[in-house]
Amino acid sequence: MKQISTFGASAWQIGELHLFRDSDPKQLAPLLAACPVVQVEQGETVSDLHCARLYIVLRGALAVGADTRTGMADGTISKVLPGESVGEQSVLDEEANLNPIVAMEQSELLQIEAATVWRLIDESNGVARNLLRLLSFRIRAANAQLRRRQKLGEFYRQLSMVDGLTSLYNRAWLNDLLPTMVASAHDTQAPLSLVMIDIDHFKKFNDSHGHLQGDQALRTAAQVLSGALRPSDCAVRYGGEEMMVILPNTSIGLAQSVAERLCERMRQAVVFGDMRLPLPHITASFGVAALQPGQDEQALIAAADAALYRAKETGRNRVAVAAV
Ligand code: GH3
Ligand code: MG
Ligand code: MG
Repeated sequence: MKQISTFGASAWQIGELHLFRDSDPKQLAPLLAACPVVQVEQGETVSDLHCARLYIVLRGALAVGADTRTGMADGTISKVLPGESVGEQSVLDEEANLNPIVAMEQSELLQIEAATVWRLIDESNGVARNLLRLLSFRIRAANAQLRRRQKLGEFYRQLSMVDGLTSLYNRAWLNDLLPTMVASAHDTQAPLSLVMIDIDHFKKFNDSHGHLQGDQALRTAAQVLSGALRPSDCAVRYGGEEMMVILPNTSIGLAQSVAERLCERMRQAVVFGDMRLPLPHITASFGVAALQPGQDEQALIAAADAALYRAKETGRNRVAVAAV
């Protein structure tokens, strides 16, 4: 960055610069005359981390990145074009400008030190008004950006709660939500049932048809679950070929009939492999348990798991209910 002249010695007109619009040029000229005009080369960094000063682009363009203090440098860049300024906020709050500012091409900048900016504000209502307008615009833009980030954050949070293969909820979701559902069931004394599901002889299915076809079977099993449930019910991929269905406001008797229906649909479901050719049907075993007074979510899962174990032991492709 090198000084090539002063504003007074250059051919630039005060009225061309947005900050000085509708101000009296004759009033501002003496204050701006000695301000340096500097030249920056393409790719050169403009920010001076220790100085609060304002730059106005006379020629070329600057790219301003997100404030590095926020830790949210997300690639958002705004472009500053001739007539526009950057750094006014750091002048006003006397904080160093931590937004990375880089010249997008060879550019000429008018450099105004903080003390001069304050004198311009004191001398000219027009400058003060323009600065306020600019700050208001910047605040609105920052708020809009924050809202976009929040939405994006929520989107990724939701994405991180869903299993990529089956689109069922994943373990992270379960760890997050099941304790709340259990607590709420205890509070309201509403029934809550849970069904553990494990695909039968799935290792053999993989060994016979390959892992990719196995994945296809898992997707089909997941569709059977999500297609057969009420909106208030939740289907989770617990891990591997084990899935879970959570049934709020559902007694053990009703949960058993839901599990019987899922078991039937599982055996009827057609697994389409490559080339849309049907593969052998899959079956699954189901363990049903209802939340008991004083029970936590781990104990509920263990009870459903024990029932599932019995369903496996007694021949698979069936439903077993936890002993109370
Ligand atoms: P059981 O009837 O007793 O449940 O027998 P199983 O063969 O289903 O049980 P086992 O636990 O021995 O095998 C589970 C198999 O599930 C082995 C593993 O490769 C397979 N599996 C787990 N996750 C995936 C997956 O994401 N994709 C595929 N294709 N297979 C998986
Ligand atoms: Mg298993
Ligand atoms: Mg299995």
